[in-house]
Amino acid sequence: MSLLVVGSVAYDAIESPYGKVERTLGGAATYFSVCAAFFTHVNLVAVVGHDFDPKDEAMLRKRSIDVDGLERADGKCFFWAGRYSENLNERVTLSTDLNVFAEFNPRLPDKYRKSKYVFLANIAPGLQRDVLHQVKGRPKLAALDTMNYWIERTNADLLETLKCVDILMINDSETRQLSNENNLLRAARHIFKLGPSTLVVKRGEYGAMLVDKHGVFCVPAFPLEEPHDPTGAGDSFAGGFMGYLASVGSTSDAELRRAMVYGSVMGSFTVERFGLDRLLTLKKPEIHARARHFAKLTQFKL
Ligand code: AMP
Repeated sequence: MSLLVVGSVAYDAIESPYGKVERTLGGAATYFSVCAAFFTHVNLVAVVGHDFDPKDEAMLRKRSIDVDGLERADGKCFFWAGRYSENLNERVTLSTDLNVFAEFNPRLPDKYRKSKYVFLANIAPGLQRDVLHQVKGRPKLAALDTMNYWIERTNADLLETLKCVDILMINDSETRQLSNENNLLRAARHIFKLGPSTLVVKRGEYGAMLVDKHGVFCVPAFPLEEPHDPTGAGDSFAGGFMGYLASVGSTSDAELRRAMVYGSVMGSFTVERFGLDRLLTLKKPEIHARARHFAKLTQFKL
């Protein structure tokens, strides 16, 4: 089943203890689409500027990603710069230039409107809602990601958008910030009152946790000896998670658990190299092999 995503397509400048890149293709919707396309067809909604490299467009087209919803506008692409701490666990944002996203008015191509799986990747909550409202009928599953930037600047808009989604997928500090609760289970209870019935908390090197009416399910992060760049790991997690669910066409408890594993698998590949580098050489059998590795990693007898 096809999967719709709206979010940033950007150029990033990244500094980590392992190196530095001045300008590389990034953006939440880019990482999401590239990862989800290993599992299913993806409909991408975003805007780019005149500086968008045709080679980057060709890379997206070569995959199972429809770019008819990728608008070109006057101006420059979204630009983000960030620096990671020595242990890669903390990051400071050095700049966020919305550029063409500041005036973006998403229009969904007709063929996108039937999408049953929708992911509202990290972008202004008003744009996320706009896109969701253009989808015909209620999607089978709508999930949303956001970040401190939007929680602080557009809180009322975010609360409005949250009413319309099934899953909120954010990192642990954002969960605490949004709910004003330090404990993640209490935070989940708070978030369920805002709209979503499922919370997925991405916890970096500590893995991810899903909370819903069935209870709690946790996956570890894949242990890596030399992670290089965590940029996009959360979006890659979301791409693996939603891509897998759309490919099986089910949101049963068992499939949600498998989706958590595929999310963690995709996040782990992304952090192995800078930017999208590892994802661009990745092959499907490697994904399944790592998923099997996860099963071993977490197996025990009582
Ligand atoms: P993550 O590491 O999963 O938080 O995602 C990093 C990606 O998000 C980068 O490639 C950035 O281009 C993009 N990004 C950073 N800040 C924002 C923002 N405020 N809105 C949308 N996308 C952003």
